Amino acid sequence: MNVYHAEAPGVRRRPFVRVAYLPGGESGWSPSSLPDRCPLLIDATSVACSVHVDHVRKRKTGTCLSLVVMRCRRHGCAFTLYPCGFAPYARVPIAPVDPRGTPVIARVEGDRIEEPLAAWRGTPFEAALDAARGTAWPRSEGRTKGATRWWRTQGRWIGLAALLVGLVALASDPVAVAAQLNVPALTMRDASQAYAAARGYRARGAVIVHVLSLLKPSRRTAERLFASGAHAGRWGAPLSWDPIAHRLRPCAFRASGVPP
Ligand SMILES: [Zn+2]
Repeated sequence: MNVYHAEAPGVRRRPFVRVAYLPGGESGWSPSSLPDRCPLLIDATSVACSVHVDHVRKRKTGTCLSLVVMRCRRHGCAFTLYPCGFAPYARVPIAPVDPRGTPVIARVEGDRIEEPLAAWRGTPFEAALDAARGTAWPRSEGRTKGATRWWRTQGRWIGLAALLVGLVALASDPVAVAAQLNVPALTMRDASQAYAAARGYRARGAVIVHVLSLLKPSRRTAERLFASGAHAGRWGAPLSWDPIAHRLRPCAFRASGVPP
């Protein structure tokens, strides 16, 4: 299952916890710090948690990480620790960051970067990058042996990308998403109109790529996209474990007009 192309009712709307995974451990990556509280510990007046590592779940995320699952005896819940950049069930990160949250740098060919937004390859936005170039992902395996990207996936990822960057009505007010993503409101308004008028995957991809060019590949951008996706109902509230402040920090969607 993949949250980017399949619904997981009931599960996807739960709050989910992310921590930085660092190189090391059996699977090659392990959490840098373990929370001592669960997502159900609402505030300081709540009864303290009793949290422990329940098991390690082997699954194929983009980097084939094994994910740590924790359980709180006090509040009777289990929760998975997702690496930076990953939503539940996602096989690729939402933005070009590694499991630590470090921005992934685009590969450089000679003195030049292969393509301006190459860092976004390996995220759901890759579908729009290809679409904007007129590259349609194959419709069947018979045509392109060994392909891992398919036409239906491309369509779904384009839809998701449009949702996350505020180009479709479901994402609520595009201006509010613009504030969230730190993109000029006028630009976003024009882009959402262009997206509504776009006919075909190539035109839609071009509009998404235009907005994408305004986003900096960073952990902060990933956080903002998580908040945007949660606001649009795509997944539950994103929480990140802050080992310094010692709390699960919400990544709240900011209303229009409020500086991000
Ligand atoms: Zn708890």
